[in-house]
Amino acid sequence: MLSFFKEKKLVCYICSKEIIEGEEFVARLNVPTKSLMPVGVLDKVLVKHAKEILCKQCHQQSTN
Ligand SMILES: [Zn+2]
Repeated sequence: MLSFFKEKKLVCYICSKEIIEGEEFVARLNVPTKSLMPVGVLDKVLVKHAKEILCKQCHQQSTN
């Protein structure tokens, strides 16, 4: 049961690599509305609200 509440990790949506502390990444977000303003620890906010999260490598490949 506890595993259900396991913390979500920042994972690259292309290569599924976990983005670790100190690593650079790119996230695509919608501007939040005032009533739905995400508040909290940044990585958890991103996991919940980001449409796309890319590691630096995949971002560089996708822009080349
Ligand atoms: Zn990646």
